[in-house]
Amino acid sequence: MQYTLTERFLKYVQVDTQADPTSTTFPSSEKQKNLTNLICEELKQMGITYSQNEAGYIYASIPSNIDKSVPKVFFCSHLDTAPDCSGTDVRPILHHNYQGQDITLPDDNTQVISPRQYPNLLNKIGNDIITASGLTLLGSDDKSGVAIIIDALYQLVNNPEIPHGEVKALLTTDEEIGKGVAKVDLSLLDADFGYTLDSGDLGCFEDENFSANAFKLTIHGVSAHPGYAKGSMENAIKIASEIVAALPKLTLSPETTEAKEGFIHPSKIQGGLETATVDFILRDFETAKLDEYANLIRSTAEDVLLSYPNSSYESEVKVQYRNMKDVLVQHPHVSQIALTAMENVGVTPIYGSIRGGTDGAALSHLGLPCPNLFAGEQAIHSKHEWVSVQDMEKGVDTVLEICRLVAKM
Ligand SMILES: [Zn+2]
Repeated sequence: MQYTLTERFLKYVQVDTQADPTSTTFPSSEKQKNLTNLICEELKQMGITYSQNEAGYIYASIPSNIDKSVPKVFFCSHLDTAPDCSGTDVRPILHHNYQGQDITLPDDNTQVISPRQYPNLLNKIGNDIITASGLTLLGSDDKSGVAIIIDALYQLVNNPEIPHGEVKALLTTDEEIGKGVAKVDLSLLDADFGYTLDSGDLGCFEDENFSANAFKLTIHGVSAHPGYAKGSMENAIKIASEIVAALPKLTLSPETTEAKEGFIHPSKIQGGLETATVDFILRDFETAKLDEYANLIRSTAEDVLLSYPNSSYESEVKVQYRNMKDVLVQHPHVSQIALTAMENVGVTPIYGSIRGGTDGAALSHLGLPCPNLFAGEQAIHSKHEWVSVQDMEKGVDTVLEICRLVAKM
């Protein structure tokens, strides 16, 4: 039995694969493997070589059908869904030939997907739109990408007239909780470069993302009995608060920045009279700016501490992830192939910058350049999540065209 792209997608979204951010296991939730097993069964039926690891990743491989040696390309997406919104008992609904109307979701009619909120719906008139039913997310992030990749593999093995080198697929778990490539084995993947299919609207192409550090500031104050503290107490809570309050607000903050602007974001504060810690995340597209941001926090702390002569601070920086652009600029053909492929299948590329990290960024810095391509997903991590079938079909066309272009290298 073989499936259409739509049938695959509808099947995958009904498997609950919500990641669990509180878990320390791989995968974070055992149920993610239900989708791993289902897809492995499909690959087996297609006669495609695959393996899976203990974390629920799938590695699949299709041999070359040309007689010259070309780079090995991989396509990557993630099987898990976000912890932000329920993924249990997803009931996908296919709205044929969408005509621009509000879509009221039947299991909770207060949930309305409207072009007023999502004007992009008006670009999808005549398309088939898939939504959830009002109680859950849809899981288009990233089961759109999964369905596109599996369907493209199916097309490749059933259409031998499409020339291609070795083509690989990597499906991961726990991307949504930042562990998407924690268990990747690059020798098993055995590829030269690749693409994640985890971006949004038709044509979206992302080759840059934030570079990210964590910064921990620890304040050591001076404790004393509050009844007899005059002239001696230096309250670490107050010192930490003053430092946070003295940092920029109208710039360099998540709530006041967008596009290519970076920020310093206090994400957690805890402590007492004697010791207080503030956890920050530092983000910018220019990796070097992260050091400037760390120094700004340190100099602010030093200024505040001038009023607290017996107190001190220490700081600790941890690297989180890095901008994939730093790698991709050294391999310009990787992005160029994807852009040419899109144009060849009639899709206009829309450049974007990811204000976060991606599996592709991590893979890029592991030596496998990996920009991010559209999978069609919209209003992700919410009950309003939706996707156009025709956009996903263009995703399959783009993947196949990339394979053709790589075969000419
Ligand atoms: Zn995603």
